[in-house]
Amino acid sequence: MPTLAAEQLRQISTRLFQAAGVPDTIAARVSDSLVEANLAGHDSHGVLRVPQYLEYLREGEIDPHAEIELLAETPTTALLDAHWAFGQLAAAEGMRLAIDKALENNLGMVAVRRSAHIGRLGEYSLMAADEGLVGAVLCNSSMLAAPYGGMARVLSTNPMSVAVPAGDRSVFLLDFATTVRAEGKVRLAKEKGEHVPEGWILDKDGQPTTEPEDLYDDGMLLPLGEYKGYALSLLVDILGGVLTGHGATSSEVYSHGNGVAMMAIDIEPFCSRERFEHEVENLLDRMKAVPPAPGFSEVLVPGEPEARSKAVRLREGILVPEKVWQAILDEGERLGVRIEGSLDA
Ligand code: NAD
Repeated sequence: MPTLAAEQLRQISTRLFQAAGVPDTIAARVSDSLVEANLAGHDSHGVLRVPQYLEYLREGEIDPHAEIELLAETPTTALLDAHWAFGQLAAAEGMRLAIDKALENNLGMVAVRRSAHIGRLGEYSLMAADEGLVGAVLCNSSMLAAPYGGMARVLSTNPMSVAVPAGDRSVFLLDFATTVRAEGKVRLAKEKGEHVPEGWILDKDGQPTTEPEDLYDDGMLLPLGEYKGYALSLLVDILGGVLTGHGATSSEVYSHGNGVAMMAIDIEPFCSRERFEHEVENLLDRMKAVPPAPGFSEVLVPGEPEARSKAVRLREGILVPEKVWQAILDEGERLGVRIEGSLDA
């Protein structure tokens, strides 16, 4: 498996998007997002997506020239139609607007319809935390998951992310699919020729399976935490799909991409930001002080795995699975982009 520096991957991804007709700044912006996901350890939302987005561009599911339209606005809310722009642009623009509203009026909520895939949600919730606000993002997506107790695809992986500034601990970052794992994690296991753990997926007959291929043969992802994750998933579909007008995943309105709801919340109307951050930091410290249970080496807090991964991968590079690398090389050939550069080449 080739290991590449983040910057090498960024350049390769940017050049491929440029060759596919994506304007330079957008090609670079989307590539930044994907490589940031790799750095955070979420390879499921990293450069693995480059061939997929290139396919979406060919199929017209992403419009690289789309103008994001403001449909409605109040001092604390906005509704955007992304017209199938890259989701990375739509979500960042939506969160920027939510942050500006929160800085001015204490709360900002932005709903985005007709966005292409937004990638890693944590990127956008962190934008708010970086400005001292609480940031929240959720989105629905295409049909891949079964409801609790059912055996048909009617829901998506319906992820959510909340980021909270946490003083010297930097940040609390919740960022996950409401299925046991994101679909991209199953895709990654398939690309690596590995099995997935029990409890992630059912095959098309509703039987538990550890074979990732079964998901792509009409199988289903399972909700996390049984009926509780199922309820969270429905909530995400209601806010990300119904409220935004993007369409609930199982509805006739839904076609593809992500319906996205985002919020930025000012802390100051409730308590001083300094006190809040200090108490969140203390809370997380109390978790870290808990002795590890048998089989564990330490207690982690949400956001810690991503921060650690980034530090290591910036230093040691990003391992790209053979099949993902081959798919990138194939796109290079198709688009006439010469790709080279592997730290271990
Ligand atoms: P995951 O199961 O890897 O969970 C990640 C979350 O769990 C993070 O908040 C992380 O800090 C925390 N975490 C991990 N180990 C921990 C531990 N030991 N202790 C405490 N906290 C811990 O995530 P996932 O569900 O596979 O999702 C991966 C990525 O996929 C996310 O970034 C998500 O936003 C993205 N996603 C996007 C879409 C989309 O349609 N755009 C859909 C699904 C998922």
